[in-house]
Amino acid sequence: MSSDEQTNHDIIVRYRNIKKAFGDTVVLNELNIDVKKGEKIALIGPSGSGKTTIIRMLMTLEQPTEGTIEVDGEMLWHKEVDGKLIPADEKHLRRVRGNIGMVFQQYNLFPHMTIMRNCTEAPIHVLGLSKEEAQARAREMLMKVGLEDKIDMYPSQLSGGQQQRVAIARSLVMQPKVLLFDEVTAALDPELVGEVLEVIRDIAAEGETTMMLITHEMDFALDVADRVFFLDAGRIAEQGTPYEVIQNPQTERLKSFLGRFH
Ligand code: ADP
Repeated sequence: MSSDEQTNHDIIVRYRNIKKAFGDTVVLNELNIDVKKGEKIALIGPSGSGKTTIIRMLMTLEQPTEGTIEVDGEMLWHKEVDGKLIPADEKHLRRVRGNIGMVFQQYNLFPHMTIMRNCTEAPIHVLGLSKEEAQARAREMLMKVGLEDKIDMYPSQLSGGQQQRVAIARSLVMQPKVLLFDEVTAALDPELVGEVLEVIRDIAAEGETTMMLITHEMDFALDVADRVFFLDAGRIAEQGTPYEVIQNPQTERLKSFLGRFH
């Protein structure tokens, strides 16, 4: 295998020449990102710089205006037929999207279901697991986030931090190839932020799951990320190791952005 092929083989998410516009407003332009298997990517940048749109496109919640996105060697929005790219159908989209998990700022647990059922609905109905298999996986993941003693409770009986940890366990149960985190601590009271970041740190330390995280927690990004991208007005203005980007910023824009966190 040539080194090129070897490199391609290691890449799980690939954004190529992405442009995204809402009406006349271009919110992302000339975006190219390669994420390697197992890599943890932090997206930082001011509000409105395009971070959420980047991960929403991977969840197929937004479609790029131009360019392609690949997940594990398969195009998200297109299919290749006889050497030509044609728009993907819903079935293809659903299959490729099945590789992606996402944890949002609002954890959106089902209020009328127990914690266990919140974690087993999707594996049973989407993956087709038996109830027993789904419960075994859910128990394992709830243990991972430190909530195995809460399985019979309802979301309203848990703190916000605990509910967000359930949402993380619920994503893990689906065994996604790529896990996306969109400012998962932004809606939490400050004293609950630490326990959620700790859980994500633990999952990251296991090393297997590829992660893309939008975060305003710079110490956390410094700890967890292999690479950091600084988004500014729809472009990647700086990228590199956390040390390079967060501790040794080059542009005035990034220096001023980071200045807000001191
Ligand atoms: P960030 O996550 O960095 O705050 P977003 O990706 O949410 O940035 O937004 C980037 C830009 O795209 C913003 O100017 C936002 O107003 C705009 N935008 C996002 N979603 C929509 C939409 N559905 N319709 C119109 N504009 C949108």
